[in-house]
Formats: sequence, structure tokens, C-alpha cells
Amino acid sequence: MTETVFTPATAERVQELSQNLSAVRERITRATAAAGREREPELIVVTKFFPASDVVALHGLGVQDVGENREQEAGPKALGAAANGAHPRWHFIGQLQSNKAARVLRFASEVHSVDRAGLVTALGKAAARRAEAEPGAEPAGIYLQVDLRGESSLSEDPNAPRGGARPEELAALADLVAGNDALCLRGLMAVAPLGEDPRPAFERLAALSERLRRDHPEARELSAGMSGDLEAAVAAGATRLRIGSDVLGRRQSLL
Ligand SMILES: *Cc1c(COP(=O)(O)O)cnc(C)c1O
Repeated sequence: MTETVFTPATAERVQELSQNLSAVRERITRATAAAGREREPELIVVTKFFPASDVVALHGLGVQDVGENREQEAGPKALGAAANGAHPRWHFIGQLQSNKAARVLRFASEVHSVDRAGLVTALGKAAARRAEAEPGAEPAGIYLQVDLRGESSLSEDPNAPRGGARPEELAALADLVAGNDALCLRGLMAVAPLGEDPRPAFERLAALSERLRRDHPEARELSAGMSGDLEAAVAAGATRLRIGSDVLGRRQSLL
């Protein structure tokens, strides 16, 4: 085991994060106005590949929500940030194996990447155990991730990694989440398909969300929009934006 020494972000880094954050917040404000919407979507800053010191700095700049996509990286980072006074809400946004569900719920209060029944069951059990251990613990927030690739690209590449449930699977998954008291169905999440215009894809997502809310009115959140397609997501009604590189800078590959 290696001990990670915590080095606070330098003044230059804090200033860079602050400027990037302001620029992103301005884009969100402009996109919200352009879409004729009253409420701005909430910003989740995706800190994957960046150190706990950046989370602490961002929290100091008013960021309340951070996102991570790998459990092995996020767990220690959340502990490191907490040890240095930063307790943002952690959103898990990456592919998740069912046997990691309990580990993720140790730090995350929201999971955006739920796309199959086995994972709902595992998260439900882990959240129920957590509720028993700490009465008053909030139910785990669940977003169902949808695969927005159209039928044609799905049949072209049936073996591509599945990022999300097929639209026709959503109703059953939503019922499963809603039937578990330790889970709270927040809504839908998606990533725009590579190489496609994000606008029609996000419009499909918005239509699926509307359909879902007929049976589950509480499932009103729409988690969509990354650095490159924030405006398209806001236009389609996103209520949660997951922004990484435009706030933190380019991610270096760890390998
Ligand atoms: C990394 C990631 C993001 C953030 O992407 P950027 O392009 O860096 O803004 C958003 N959503 C998911 C699911 C991600 O994995």
C-alpha cells in the first residue's frame, strides 16, 4: 500500500480552475437563456484523472457536485478530499460491476450509470444495508443510463461496449428501482453517441424521459451534456451537466 501525500493545489492551479469554472458557468447561463428555460441545470464537475487537491480547490470555489467514473480511483479521492475538509456530493458516472456496488455507495450518493436489473438489485441491497447501519441515510439516487445509438448503428456494431440500457428496457428497470425503498429514481442519463450530431440524440433522450415520467413522475432529472455538447444538452432539457475537461483541463492518460 502506498500512502498518498496530500499536496494542496497551487495558487496558479486554483486560479486556472476558477477561470475555467466561470467560463463554463457563463456558457450554462447563455445556453439556458437561449433555450428559453428559467432554471439553470446543475453542474457536476467530473474530476476523474485529477487529484483530490483539485476536488478540495473546486469545493472551495463553490462546487457542490463532483463526478467520477472508476471506483478504485474515486474511493480514495473522496477520502482524501474529506480529510481536507471537502465534502461535495459524489456522483458515480462510469460502468459499474454489480460486485462493486457496495464500494461505490460508500462515497457516492448518486449513480448515473445504472443499465441492468442485476445492478439495480446489487445497489438496492447495498443501500438497504447502509440504511440499516445509519438510520436517516438518504436513499441512493439512481439514474438509468440509456444507449442512444440508433438501431442502424447498433446493428452495425452489436459488440460495441454497451453504454446503457436499450430504450425498450427502461420501463422494467424503472419499476425495479421504484420498488426499492433504499433507492430513489432520479431520471435518465446518456452520453451522446460518437460521431453523431448530439441534438437529435438528446431529443430522443428527452422523449424517453417524458414517457418515463408518465409512470414515474418523480424521475424528472435528465443527466446529459459534457464539455463538447453542453449547449445541445441544455437545449434538449438537461437538468444535470457532467463537465470534465473544460473545467479541469485535458486528461493525461495514466498509462
Ligand atoms: C468523462 C465523462 C464526462 C466528462 O467529459 P468531458 O468531455 O471531459 O467534459 C461526462 N460523462 C461521462 C459519463 C464521462 O465518463
